[in-house]
Amino acid sequence: MATTLSTGTISAARDAAVAAIEAAADDLTALSKFIHQHPEVALEEVRASAACAEFLEARGFAVERGLAGLPTAFAAGAGDGAPRVAYLAEYDALPGLGHGCGHNLIAMSGVAAGLGLGAALRAGGLPGSVRVFGTPAEEAVGGKVIMAAAGVFNGIDAAMGAHPGSNDTYCPTVAGSGLSLACEEVRIAYHGRAAHAAADPYNGINALNAIVEVFNGINALRQHVKSDARLHGIITDGGQAANVVPDFARAEFFVRAAKLEDMNQLVERVRQIAEGAALMTGARLEFEVSGLANSDMVTNLTLARQLKRNLDAVGLEMPEATPEPPSGSTDWGNVSYEVPSVETGFPILDRICTWHSPEVVVAADSKLGYRNTLLVAKAMALTGIDILTDPALLTKIQAEFAHVPPLPAIAARH
Ligand SMILES: [Zn+2]
Repeated sequence: MATTLSTGTISAARDAAVAAIEAAADDLTALSKFIHQHPEVALEEVRASAACAEFLEARGFAVERGLAGLPTAFAAGAGDGAPRVAYLAEYDALPGLGHGCGHNLIAMSGVAAGLGLGAALRAGGLPGSVRVFGTPAEEAVGGKVIMAAAGVFNGIDAAMGAHPGSNDTYCPTVAGSGLSLACEEVRIAYHGRAAHAAADPYNGINALNAIVEVFNGINALRQHVKSDARLHGIITDGGQAANVVPDFARAEFFVRAAKLEDMNQLVERVRQIAEGAALMTGARLEFEVSGLANSDMVTNLTLARQLKRNLDAVGLEMPEATPEPPSGSTDWGNVSYEVPSVETGFPILDRICTWHSPEVVVAADSKLGYRNTLLVAKAMALTGIDILTDPALLTKIQAEFAHVPPLPAIAARH
């Protein structure tokens, strides 16, 4: 079917996508401004998710709300059957800061790209379908982790998204670019026995000593981990008074590694350290993992390169990608193990700026921000058309994705 598409049909589809985004530019900007002006933190994005879903519903999309048990997740679909292209929209804000990560623009880019590809499908002659997913809580539990585990992305052929950045951000088109760390949260608590810290300490069991030994053990482990690993934690409970042997102490750690398998192994090492500290002190251990680990990000380079061609075509200028070590973590990683994925960066500043800052709050509501969001949305819509109309491209994307291993089991709860 797709092989018989004429160049006329394809260019009409491209024109329809771009025209639809341009025609809706003011409405899309208003949508983004509304989200910016009403910042809602993770899992509380009631107005943002409703506004995005209603925007697409009013323009002919079929909307499903509350996916994967997340009230602020949604899917909005148009067209029918395969190939299936997805755009992911985030909209959560940062506590106390507002849209200091620019997720109001991510929402706008996903909705706009969906609108564009939907218009191309309506123009006729194209196979396949488009879906826009509203994905809550990127900054906290990771809505995409829960959605991916629930199978929400099953059957999707390619997933795209765009994250705003400084003027050094890029589309990850080369191996070793656009990486992120797998990350799991570990909670360690000890129950001991209170006693007078001077009169009869021999009757006490010191839960804080156990936590201190966990820190010592993890620090000893650092020499023997791969260079990308990160282990960092805080003590959330360390006793109430210096003259009482602490009967309860608790710490939280993030365990990160370049690959999910390595991260899972590290979580087990930390568990062994915690068990050792329990033996040393006699305190009773409670060891808990969140079970919602972020996987590392596996960018589909074929998809990323096609997106870059379209970013160039629409005139969004960015530096070329370069390999660099992963730093942060994102719930996109879990999507990337399920579906060929790319999350491109796009600049909303003409300089380099610290992220999660008041400067970003301003940039996320700026002329340059909205302009470039519309450009990146057009490029994502055009890439969607390429996937629907070029079977060779889809085959290549799938062939690359075939090398992605199945998502390794998340470290068991304990
Ligand atoms: Zn972000």
